[in-house]
Amino acid sequence: MQALSCNRQLVTAALITALMPQAFCGASNVQPLEAASEEVIVEQVTESQNTGFSAEELQAAVDKAYQNFKGLKEGKNADYIPILTQTPSDLFGIVIATPDGQFFTAGDVDYKFSIQSVSKVFTAALVMEEKNPEAVADNIGFEPTGLPFNSKLALEIYDDRSVNPLVNAGAIAAVSLVDAENEAERWQLVKGNLEAFAGRELPLLEAVYNSEYETAWGNRAIANSLFNYGRLYCEPEEALRVYTKQCSVGVSATDLAVMGATLANSGTNPITGIEVLDPRHVPELLAIMATAGFYDESGEWMATAGLPAKTGVGGGIVAVVPGKFAIAAFSPRLNEAGNSIKSMRAIRQISGELGLGVFGSNPE
Ligand code: GLN
Repeated sequence: MQALSCNRQLVTAALITALMPQAFCGASNVQPLEAASEEVIVEQVTESQNTGFSAEELQAAVDKAYQNFKGLKEGKNADYIPILTQTPSDLFGIVIATPDGQFFTAGDVDYKFSIQSVSKVFTAALVMEEKNPEAVADNIGFEPTGLPFNSKLALEIYDDRSVNPLVNAGAIAAVSLVDAENEAERWQLVKGNLEAFAGRELPLLEAVYNSEYETAWGNRAIANSLFNYGRLYCEPEEALRVYTKQCSVGVSATDLAVMGATLANSGTNPITGIEVLDPRHVPELLAIMATAGFYDESGEWMATAGLPAKTGVGGGIVAVVPGKFAIAAFSPRLNEAGNSIKSMRAIRQISGELGLGVFGSNPE
C-alpha cells in the first residue's frame, strides 16, 4: 500500500502540473491534458481511492461506452442559438474524475464548448454558499417543473414563478441573487465561482455570447416577467446579460468532470484542494439535480441512470456519484428535450454497468 500511495501522489502531482499552469496564470487558450499523464494513471494506480472500483475498471467502463456510442448519429445540434450549429457534430468525449485527482478518459475531452445550462448548478451553489439553501428555496424554488427548460408557461402556473434554479427562469433569478454592487462585479463573481469549481481559469466564448444575446428574446421575456412578479432581484437586462455570459463560458469535458468531482468530494475541488461549497449544502444541490437536472426528462433520467446530473444545450452533461466520483460527457447532437444523446447514453451505460445508480443498478 505504501508503494501504491506513493505512486498516486506522483500521478496526482503530474496531473496538477498538467492542469495548474492554465489555472491561475491568465491563459485563455487551455492546453489539453498530456496523454502521457493519462497513461501513467492507468499503469501505476491499481486502486482508485474510495470509489469502490479499480482504475482498470473505471477506464474499461469509459472505453466501452465510447466505443458503443461513438458512431451514433441521432439528434442534431442546438440551433436556436445560431452559432451552436457550427460545432462539429461528431465530437464525443467521456471523463471520469475522482476526488483524489485521477482521470479516466476517452475521445474529445479537451475540446472547449459552451457550458450552457450545466452552469446553473454552480451558480445555485454560489447562492447557497453566500446565503444558504433556504435563500434558494424562498426566492427561487426547489420543485421540478415537468416543462421544458425555457418554459414561460411554468412562470404563469406556479406560484413560485421561477420554480427551481436549473431551469432558465430560476437560473436567471439565481444570477440576480448573487451579492453584487454592479453588473461587472456580478459577472466576476459568477465566473470566478465556475473557475473555482473547475480548478482553472475558464474563457468566455464571445462568439457564443453574442449569438445568444442577440437572439435572447425568450429569456428576456422570462427575466422581465420574473421582475414583474417580484421574483428577480436585480435589473432584468443585467440579469439576462450575466446569465447569457455564464452560459457562454467555455469548458471541456475534463473541466465538467472536475466540477462534478468537487460535488462528489463534498464541495472540495480535488485539484486545488480548495473548499468551494460548504459540505452541508451539497445534498440540497444534488437533490435539485436529481429532480430537475434534465427538465421534463428528469424522471426518465433518474429511472434509467439513477444519478443526479445536469445537461446543457452545448452538449455537455455532468453526473455525480455522491461521495465517489463524477462522470462527464460531451457531444453536440441533442434530443427534443435539449439533452445530448451520446452523452446521455454513455453516462447511463457506465452507471448501469458499474451499478452506480443511487437507487440500485439500472443496466442499459
Ligand atoms: N443558454 C441556454 C438558454 O438559456 C441554456 C439552455 C440549456 O442549456 N438547456 O436557452
